Formats: sequence, structure tokens, C-alpha cells
Amino acid sequence: MFAKTTAVDPFDLVIFGGTGDLARRKILPALYRRFCAGQFREGARIIGAARADLGTRGYRAFVAEALREAAAEEAGDAAALDAFLATLDYVSLDARGDRGWPELAAKLTEDRVRACFFSVGPSLFAPLAERLRRHGIVTDRTRIVVEKPFGHDLDSARALNATLAAHFHERQIFRIDHYLGKETVQNLMAVRFGNMLFEPLWNSLFVDHVQITVAEAVGVRGRGEYYDRAGAMRDMVQNHLMQLLCLIAMEPPSKFDPDAVRDEKLKVIRALDPVQPHHIVRGQYVAAPGRDEPGYREEVGNPRSTTETYVALKVGISNWRWAGTPIYLRTGKRLVARSSVINVVFKHAPHSIFGEDAGQHANILSIRLQPNEGITLQVTIKEPGPGGIRLIDVPLDMTFAEALGPEGAHHPDAYERLVVDVLRGNQTLFMRGDEVEAAWAWTDPIIEGWESRGDVPKPYEVGSTGPTDAELLMRRDNRRWLGIRP
Ligand code: NAP
Repeated sequence: MFAKTTAVDPFDLVIFGGTGDLARRKILPALYRRFCAGQFREGARIIGAARADLGTRGYRAFVAEALREAAAEEAGDAAALDAFLATLDYVSLDARGDRGWPELAAKLTEDRVRACFFSVGPSLFAPLAERLRRHGIVTDRTRIVVEKPFGHDLDSARALNATLAAHFHERQIFRIDHYLGKETVQNLMAVRFGNMLFEPLWNSLFVDHVQITVAEAVGVRGRGEYYDRAGAMRDMVQNHLMQLLCLIAMEPPSKFDPDAVRDEKLKVIRALDPVQPHHIVRGQYVAAPGRDEPGYREEVGNPRSTTETYVALKVGISNWRWAGTPIYLRTGKRLVARSSVINVVFKHAPHSIFGEDAGQHANILSIRLQPNEGITLQVTIKEPGPGGIRLIDVPLDMTFAEALGPEGAHHPDAYERLVVDVLRGNQTLFMRGDEVEAAWAWTDPIIEGWESRGDVPKPYEVGSTGPTDAELLMRRDNRRWLGIRP
């Protein structure tokens, strides 16, 4: 009943870096699932592009293998898999040279959407943009999708925006933050702006504080070289956590359209207070006794690294809605569990009629992004049974899996949603250039402060909840982090 799929018009989608890790694990499985859902019309084409000399047959074999791993269930349908593979083509080209570009241009169809996914390292974004223009591939209906990281700091983000702007209009540039493609993140907006119940309470009069946690159980995996130059602040806070913060804190846009939504997000970033050094905790994981996982320095092979793998921050927003209500952000690697959740913690009732024994209870709206996407509202009720009133907190499940049936409970991967939005030309869930620059303008002074002070991150053990200083950050305010639950 709920799986309404409106097919998109035939398109040409070029995946630059079509043989890379992201294409293999995320983009191609997302495209295949949308294909299986009937989202693509006859004639849609997907063209992989990379330097390797694979040929179309070789690429189809590569993709079939990738789908058997990353979309095993759907790939079991041999007819669907064959039909999808038939939409695939491949061009061997070099983003830094001119080899292969005329062949790519010759493969593209006139008068249809051309979506170019830049699934390559950031140093190739500018060369790709320039060559797309030089080889006549850019039409009014060409769109580019740019992966993170978008710059390393404000200056590099500005330079990249300027390069892209030389070849494309802003309406053609889709800067991806896959957190925005998550079903629950969009549901957060529906809950906030589709109900009368929450919005009147959504301010510093009723909300005590907000906690945004993005905890990972894994280390840096194969990305050590990049990560050691980036760290958690650049890799996670400047983009994903900032985006979540914006959606929580923004004013209701006048309508759900790309610029109206992004204008409101930008206002939040511009209203963020500079963060005081004593409101930040940086951490780096170290090996824990009795566990096999290495510490960060061993994992990246840099025994003197001072890169943070954990950061916790207390953030203030100077506007009428939020003045006085802090937002606490934390993210880290090799923590006790993988868990991304936003907790909106409401204030206590002003007076307890049940006496002191009843304790203090707070309503908490939890928006869970992964794993087990869903929304719960913690409410206080009477513990069942005779003998007076004892209060307990119970979660009210707002995922409504029962009401929505199996289709409603199924959450498509973020890339499925985002890829289709690109094909439709809907930029609501993509970052605008000025948003990215404003986020760097807020983040840069924090990083520069660490660098100028020679700050060394606090150690925390693999499998823990992070450095003890992060607990103190909360305790100083008479608050506590809610648990990181798998
Ligand atoms: P990757 O596995 O290293 O793949 C890079 C791709 O680019 C390969 O297909 C490679 O194929 C191609 N390539 C490299 N140099 C090229 C050139 N000169 N001309 C044409 N193609 C070239 O990288 P990835 O992990 O997929 O990441 C791609 C992008 O997504 C990066 O910006 C990364 O930061 C971002 N990202 C990745 C992930 C993830 O989970 N992997 C998550 C978030 C963001 P050839 O060597 O054959 O040319």
C-alpha cells in the first residue's frame, strides 16, 4: 500500500569512479534496488567510468559480483539482475587526461538528464568538472553529484565552490550528505512540521537540551591515510552532525522546497556561538586490555599522530528559539556500539504531585538513525500494580510499523532516495554551497585553536563510551549522556 513508486524519465547516469568502494557498496546496489522497484523507465542507462580497462562485459561482471555481495536478496532474481546489467555500459577514461572522454561524449543521449556522480577522491572533482565542460558533456540538464569531503577548510571549500561554479549553475550541483537521505531524518521533519503537538514545545522554554550522538564501533578501516589528515571534526562534525543539528534547530520553512529549507538551515549555522575550548573534548582510541583491536596510532601507522577520533562539544545557538538550551554533539570511532541517535530531552515537570519518591522524569524524543531507524517518545506512566503510585518511563514507539505494514517498516538505503532525487532534480536533501562554507567558517577556528595550542587528544579505550572528560563535560552541567545502545 505504501510502496508508491513513480518512475523517472529515461536518463544517462555516469559514475566516475564506477569501480571504487563507494560505487560497489552503495551507489550500484541503490540503483539496482530502485530498478527492481520499477523506478526506471525503459532506456535508462548507467555508465561506469574509471581508468581500468574493463570493457562493458568486464564491468557487468564486476557489478554482478558487487550486487551479489551488497544486495544479495534482490540479486537472487536472475531475470531482474540480467535486465539491470543490460542497462550498464563502461568507458575507460582518465579524469586528469583526455583519454576516453570523446568515447564517453559519444555514448550520451541528447535531450535527457545526464547525472554525473563524482565517486572519486576530492582531488579529482575539479579536473572532472573541467573536462565535462571541455568535452561538451554539460547541457542544461546535466547534474553533478559531489561526495564528501567537500573541502578541508573554508578556503579549500570556497575554491572548490568557485571551480564548480565556473562550469555549473548551483541548481546543477548536488553536494551529498548521505545522512540527509535517511528515512528517519526526513521523518524528523514530518514529525516537527506535520504535527501541532511538538512545534509549540520545540524551544528553550520546554527543551532542556539536545544530544546528537554518532557512535561507530569500527576504526578507520582502509581510510587511514585520509583520516589521519582529517580527524573526527572534519570527517563527521562539519558535515553530518551539523546537518542533523540544523534539522533539529531550524525554523519551519515556508514550504518544503530546496531553497526554503536550505535558507533556514543556513540561519542556524550562522547563529551558532563560537565554541569555548573548555566545551570541547577531543579523544583518540587506544588498545584495551584483553581486546584484539589495535589503538589508532598503530592502526594508521603513525606513532605520533595527534588526530582526534572522538570529539564531544557543547554548542550554543544565539537566537530567540534556542538561547539557553545547549546542543551536545559527540562522535567517535571504536566505541562500544554503532549507534546514531538524536535525543531531544524536555524539561522536568515544574512540580511533582507524586512526592519526592516518584523521582524526576523527563520526556525524551529519540530519533534513531542507525541501526534500527525509528522514533520513540519516552513518557512517564504509572507502574502497573496495586499499592500507590510509582512512576516509570516507557518508550512510545512512533515508527508505527504495525499501522504501516511491512512496506512502511522497510526503510530504503539513503543512497536510493538521494540518487532518485538527483534524477528528479530535487535538491532539498543536498547541501548548498553557502551552507558548506558557513559550516567550515564555524569549524575552522576550533581546529585552528587545537593546532595553535598543540592540543593532544585524550586517550580512550577501544570498546568504551569515549574519554572520561566527555562525561565531565555533561556532569558540570548536571546532565548525563544517554547510553550508546546497539
Ligand atoms: P576508491 O575505492 O579509491 O575508488 C576510486 C575510484 O576512482 C576507482 O573507481 C578508481 O578506478 C577511480 N579513479 C581513480 N583515479 C582516477 C582517474 N585519474 N581517472 C578516472 N578514475 C579514477 O574510493 P571510494 O572509497 O569509492 O571513494 C570515492 C569518493 O567517495 C571519495 O571522495 C570518498 O571520500 C567518498 N566517500 C567514500 C565513502 C566510502 O564508504 N567508500 C564514504 C563517504 C565518502 P581506477 O583506479 O581504475 O581509475
